[in-house]
Amino acid sequence: MDFFTITTRDKKTKARVGMLKTSHGGVAETPSYVVVGTRAKVKTLTTEDIKKSKTQMIISNTYHLFRELGDSVKEFEGLHSRLGFDGVVMTDSGGFQVFSLGFSREHNVSKVGFFSHKKNSFVADLILALRAKIGLRNKRNSVRITNNGAWFKDESYSDKKPIFLTPEKSIEIQESLGADIILAFDECTSPKHGFWYNKWAMIRTHRWALRCIKAKKKNSQALYGIVQGGDYEELRKESARVIGKMPFDGFAIGGSFGKEEMRNVIDWSVPFLPEEKPRHLLGVGRIEDILDGVERGIDTFDCVIPTREGRHGGIWTKKGRYDVTKTKFLGNNELLENGCMCPACSSGITKGVLCNLFKEKNEEAGRYATLHNVFFFNSFMEHLRTSIKNGTFSEFKKQVLLDLHL
Ligand SMILES: [Zn+2]
Repeated sequence: MDFFTITTRDKKTKARVGMLKTSHGGVAETPSYVVVGTRAKVKTLTTEDIKKSKTQMIISNTYHLFRELGDSVKEFEGLHSRLGFDGVVMTDSGGFQVFSLGFSREHNVSKVGFFSHKKNSFVADLILALRAKIGLRNKRNSVRITNNGAWFKDESYSDKKPIFLTPEKSIEIQESLGADIILAFDECTSPKHGFWYNKWAMIRTHRWALRCIKAKKKNSQALYGIVQGGDYEELRKESARVIGKMPFDGFAIGGSFGKEEMRNVIDWSVPFLPEEKPRHLLGVGRIEDILDGVERGIDTFDCVIPTREGRHGGIWTKKGRYDVTKTKFLGNNELLENGCMCPACSSGITKGVLCNLFKEKNEEAGRYATLHNVFFFNSFMEHLRTSIKNGTFSEFKKQVLLDLHL
C-alpha cells in the first residue's frame, strides 16, 4: 500500500490532489488542513463534533504531551484512541518549541502576529553561531541547545525538572504517542537570526535528521524530514537538497515567517524535494497563504487559526473574518455565515446568540465558534481540491481572494 498517491495535477501550477493512506487505516485527501489538538484534544470540541467538522487530519504536540505524561508516555493508549479519531494523526517533534520557548522569547517574536524583521548584527550572529557550534547555552532563554539535543527549563511546568530532548528521545516519544505521521527533531531558528547562525543550526538539523531515521523502529509510522535554513536562499536550497535525498516518507518545511518570505522559502525548497512524496508546511494556515502554498506544491498545512481564534470569538467566512464578541452583534438574527452547513449554523446559532454566549462567558461559545471555523477551513480545502480536479484552480484562487478583498 502506498502511503501517498497523487491523483490529479494542475496543468498551470504545481498544485496537486493526492491521497494519504496510513497503515492504521486513516485516509486524507490532499491538499488538507491539519487541525491542532496540542494536548491530544482539540480544545472545546467533543469527538462527535470532530466527526461532524469534516476534519481529516489532527496534529498533536510531542513536547507538551511528554511534559504532561513523563515516562508514563510508554503506556499511552495512542492518539487515535485518545482523540476518538479515525483520520490521519500527526505529531510534531518538539523542534518548534526549541524556538517558541527559546529565541522566540529572547527576540520577542512569535509565529503568528507582528514581528520586526531586523536581523542580529553580523558580529552578534557570528558569536551565537560559534557558541552554538560548541554547544554553549543561551543565557537569556529557557532552552539550552547543544549538539546532542535541547534542554528545556519551562516555567509553565515549574514543578517539573528540565527535560532533555534528543533526536532519539523525540522519536521514542512519538512512537509511544502512536501518530500516523511523525516529524524529525529539528531546530527552528528565529527571524532575527542571521546567516551564520542559520547555517550552523541547519547543519545540526541535518545531523539530527539522520539520527531520527536511525532511531525509528516502527514501520507503521511515516517519518517526515524538515527543511530549515531561515530566509536565506542558499541555505534553504542546501537544506532541501540534503534532506530531500534522505529516505524520509514525506517532507515538511519549517520556520517560514511572513508572507513574502514564505513564498520564497517554498519556491526555493520544493524543486529539491521528491515529486512523489507529500509536502507539509508547518504552522501556516491563513486562506491566502494556503492558496500560495498549494500553488507551489504544498499538500498539507497545520495552523492554530481556526481553533484559537474561534475560542476568542474570531469567525471565519468566505468574505473574511469578524469578531462576534463585538456588542453590535447582540440581537443580530443572521447565522454565523449565510448558507453555512456547519453543525453550529445548521442548529440555528446566530451572531446574536453567539455574541451573547461569549458575553456570558458560556463554555459553549468557544465550541460553536470553533465548530464553525474548523468546518469552514475543511470545506474551503474541499472546494480547493475540486477546483484542481476541474482544472480551475487559478480561477478559484482569484475568486477567493476577490471575495476576501485581498
Ligand atoms: Zn457555520
